[in-house]
Amino acid sequence: MRRGAKIMFVLGAILLVLVVAYVLFRPHVRDTDEVIAPTTDTPETALSGPAAPVSARTPLTGDAAIAAKICAGDMADLPASLFGHQKFADGSAGLVAAPAGFNMSNCPAMQGDMASGLAAMLRAARAEAPAVADAMGGVSCYRGIDYQRGLYCRSPNLAARGYAGQAYWVAPPGYSEHATGRAIDFGDRSRTDCNVSPCFAVTPVGRWLAANAARFGFRLSFPKDNAASVAHEPWHYYYVGGYVAPVPASSGDATSAPTPAGEPPATNAGAPVTPDTTAPPETDPPEAVAPQV
Ligand SMILES: [Zn+2]
Repeated sequence: MRRGAKIMFVLGAILLVLVVAYVLFRPHVRDTDEVIAPTTDTPETALSGPAAPVSARTPLTGDAAIAAKICAGDMADLPASLFGHQKFADGSAGLVAAPAGFNMSNCPAMQGDMASGLAAMLRAARAEAPAVADAMGGVSCYRGIDYQRGLYCRSPNLAARGYAGQAYWVAPPGYSEHATGRAIDFGDRSRTDCNVSPCFAVTPVGRWLAANAARFGFRLSFPKDNAASVAHEPWHYYYVGGYVAPVPASSGDATSAPTPAGEPPATNAGAPVTPDTTAPPETDPPEAVAPQV
């Protein structure tokens, strides 16, 4: 018995040491909310209702005060940039339908010139990498001001992050490239778990776009260490038309106005559509709403 008790004591001591060592030295794991944090583009379901309360222990000043004004619905006299995001006008006029089969969740409409560039890119992908062409789709494209207000102002995360912290992940309304109709959040049907998540960069579609999108006029808006200090978004591209050189890290001027090359409107991208700019789309599938990393 004494021998058995001694063995049990030793085993218990070892177990205790292991538990303590794990607690003390376990690798840091970011909380789930941070990992799947909504980004500038996350097509999470736009939330309705009043803006989430933000602690007002100190009076809001600067960009935070402006963001609060925007969230209150006042869009007058907005500055050219806010929290590093450039101001964009709404581009709802002239939107056309996305190429057939491209829309994965919230990408029913886009500008005609971008639709043309996208169609050209899809044709090239079909010839060069058929599996990529099959998997490539749009998770989010044109987004109206009210939809963006839902993402930025009505997110439960706003209270914890504050206006500046929220802007790292989500562009304030009036400051999202998606409002122009020339931004796409690409997705990969073969890895929907990586849609709107950092691991999109290593999906087949993400890799192909990184190597080829610029050939067709699509510029990665938020590379790592971008000048706008916005979260790295390997899925978000802005259509500038024609070929553009990749933007070097930390050297791009993200506040300068993208200048679409003025390609002729698409003739093969579907009929003009008039999106509802007052009500958020409700077509996001679960995988786009809550990407898993
Ligand atoms: Zn985006």
